[in-house]
Formats: sequence, C-alpha cells, structure tokens
Amino acid sequence: MKLTMDKIVNLCKTRGFVFPGSDVYGGFANTWDFGPIGVELKNNIKRAWWKRFVQEADNSFGVDAAILMNPRVWDASGHTASFSDPKMDCKNCKTRHRADNIIENYKGCDVVPDKMTNAEMEKYIEEHDIKCPNCGKRDWTPIRTFNLMFETSRGTVDGNKDVVYLRPETAQGEYVNFLNVQRTARAKVPFGIAQIGKSFRNEITPGNFLFRTVEFEQMEHQLFCKAENAFAHYDEYKKLAWDFVVELGLKPEHLRYHDHDKLAHYAKAACDIQYLFPIGWQELNGIHHRSDWDLSRHEEFSGKSMQYLDPITNERYTPNVVEYSIGADRLTLALMCEAYDEEVLDGGDTRVVMHLNPAIAPYKVAVLPLQKNMSEKAHEVLKKLNKYFMCTYDEAGSIGKRYRRQDEIGTPFCVTIDFDTLEDNTVTIRDRDSMEQIRLPIDKLVEYISDKVMF
Ligand code: ATP
Repeated sequence: MKLTMDKIVNLCKTRGFVFPGSDVYGGFANTWDFGPIGVELKNNIKRAWWKRFVQEADNSFGVDAAILMNPRVWDASGHTASFSDPKMDCKNCKTRHRADNIIENYKGCDVVPDKMTNAEMEKYIEEHDIKCPNCGKRDWTPIRTFNLMFETSRGTVDGNKDVVYLRPETAQGEYVNFLNVQRTARAKVPFGIAQIGKSFRNEITPGNFLFRTVEFEQMEHQLFCKAENAFAHYDEYKKLAWDFVVELGLKPEHLRYHDHDKLAHYAKAACDIQYLFPIGWQELNGIHHRSDWDLSRHEEFSGKSMQYLDPITNERYTPNVVEYSIGADRLTLALMCEAYDEEVLDGGDTRVVMHLNPAIAPYKVAVLPLQKNMSEKAHEVLKKLNKYFMCTYDEAGSIGKRYRRQDEIGTPFCVTIDFDTLEDNTVTIRDRDSMEQIRLPIDKLVEYISDKVMF
C-alpha cells in the first residue's frame, strides 16, 4: 500500500476526523476543523503528553497563559524584529514562495540561504536561473521580508488602538511566569513549566493538510536549569521526546534526529526529530538549549529581576532553558499516517484500519446489538461502559459493515450483544487488530478494557 496525504485527507473528511474550515463557505485556505472523531483523538494525544511531561515528571508544572500578551514581550523575545521569512511572488502564475526554500531546493545549491541577505538571494536566483516550481517560468517579484506574526488591535476608540499580536508560540507564556510558578509551587531548579495552547503564524507557504497551518496548537515544555547541567538535560529531553512519540505509536524506522548546524546566536544546541510523512522527512518537534537568553531578555525589557535564589547555597543566578516543543496537530497527522493501513483479508476483501494506540483511539469501545430488538440490553451495557470510556453505539447495517466502520476510526474494541447475552449476561469482545473475538461476562468488561487503554 502506498500512503498518500490524499488518502488521509479523504478518510478524515468522510469519517469525521477533520473537515475543511468554514466548509459551507467553500472553505478558508489552510484552516481545518476537528470533527467528533478528530477532537477525541487530538484531546487524547494532548492528555498523553500532559501525563508524561507534567503528571509523571518530577518537578514539572502546568500553565495556561493568555494568547494576547503585552507587546513588549515580543520585543524582548526578538519576534517583532526578526520573526520573518523572505517572500517572493511569481508574477506569471501568481503563487507565493519563500526565497530561502526556493534556493535550498535548487539542485545545485551550494549556499546556506539563511546566511544571505535578500539582495544576495535575488542575485543567486538570477545567476542560477532558478525558476518557479509551479509554472517553470522565472518572473519573480523582488524579495520582501515578511513578519509572520498576526497583528490585531486593542481598544474601542478608532484611531486610538494599540497593535497587539496573536502569539506565534506558547513559550513566552512560560518564560514570563517563571518566577510566579517558582514562588507559588516552591519549585527548586531544575524544574519545568509546560503549556498546551494555540499559536498563530502567517505562514508564507502553509499546506499539506495539518502539517503547516496558520493556526495550530503547540505542546511546549521549558526546563529551567543550571548552566553547567543544561547539556545533560538537553540530551535527556532528546531521548524523552523520542520515547514519547514511539510509545504513542510512531515506528523508530520512521523517525530520525536532525541536529542543527546553524544555531541562533543565543542557542548552544538545537535538534529536531523528523518523521517520514507521505511528503518526505519533515520536522515533528524541536529540542533547544537556549542558554539564559529568554529570562535575561525579559529581565532587560521588563526591568524586573528574573533571577533565581538557591535556598541552600544562597547563590543568585539566571537559569538556562532547555525547550521541547511539538505541534499537537502535526503529531496527530503523523500518528494518523502511521496508523493507516489497507489490509487484504482472507476472502479477498480489503479493510481500511487505523491501528491507533488504544490509549489515543477516539472511541475505546463500540457497542453493537446483533439485532435491533437487543437494543435495550445494549444500552444497558453502553451505560456501564461510558462512565469509564468514550464509547459509540451502532445498530445500523450488517455486523460486518459495523466492524469495518469502527476499524476505519481505530476503535480498539467492539462489544456485541447477541442471543446468549440475554440468557447469561456475556458478550463477545472483538479486537480491532487481530479481529479475534472472545466471550466475557459484562461485569468483567471495564477491567479488561481499562488495562489495555492505559497510557
Ligand atoms: P518549521 O521549520 O516546520 O516551520 P519551526 O522550526 O518554525 O517549524 P518551532 O517554532 O520550533 O517550529 O515550533 C515547534 C513545533 O510547532 C514544530 O516542531 C511543529 O511541530 C509545530 N509547528 C510550527 N509551525 C507550525 C505550523 N505552521 N503548523 C503546524 N504546526 C507547526
């Protein structure tokens, strides 16, 4: 089976994972709405992340900071000055491109575009006759630097409005709360602050379904530590980040580390974990050793000390930060790609099945009465189970078709109520992956399923 992004997009639309944003208006480019199945999947992924990086982690605390922040935050973080990409339009086919990507993707590329000025990039494109990848012509506009932050304004009186930004990353909400969290949680360095929330970027080249959108969710964890221990923590987080996605279901052979050669001036080390998406190897998450840059900058711009006082040694210092950041939507896409399969069955039929880790499956159980006149008993069973698990109920069509529908959305267990159930209170429980069925007393179902859907 060759997996394409189209197959995933189609399944998502038809089965209720993800719909095009503003669908009845013909959509709104690169926005997507999670449907009933997709919202369960993404929520389960976010819960699993929170469990691993807050609940089970030593010394880790959550926050949920405001999306609109004091604009000075973005001066301090460097986003107002330099969170930008070089943009270029093709005059012939009217498509928009990033000049650095156009150069990078050029076959004979022998330069590092990130290190070039706009004028140098324009010259290189002209000298090497680099054409538009869409129409094959070379008819470019000049390069313009384009800030990726979405601007909006605050204030009720026209002409008296302040520009504010929709946050382009969640990290700053963790940095500015460093001392609030440290004091109230009586946290000792090293400790972490985690957050899950929406970020917004006016991307020049969004696309590839959920991979790159203008509005997305990030799951970020900042570890505040002593400078001398930061490299050890950086290595530790590289491993934790890898183990997390493997445990969720990504195959190690579809993952690789990509260490950065070119670092931001403040960074001491940076690495992505890449996943082999149907569009090729692409970044899934980033791990960065950011030195003490973030806290120092907020100290400088706010005029407030961001230093930590060690209660044992009385030493006062600005901690270093090791950042781990992963997109919830991008990870959801990767997990869907990994789980998707088209299996040829013994009789020659093909079934589409999502082999999702049961812990993140949208529904854990489908309750299926064999015949409609068993629906009362089936609802009794459903009521028992949906106190513990997200369940679905289906009595329409043949049992085989109903199993297929559940396979397509990754439901790990189907519980069937049949004639024997009415006699002896036992049901069959079918496993999605092996398709094997066993018989169990209704009273044993919760225990049997709980065990298998834990993360
Ligand atoms: P990329 O190189 O793909 O643009 P980045 O290096 O700018 O990503 P970061 O700023 O480090 O990304 O953001 C951390 C994570 O947030 C990324 O690894 C990715 O999972 C996610 N992410 C970033 N931008 C987007 C986007 N436009 N759409 C969806 N997810 C995103």
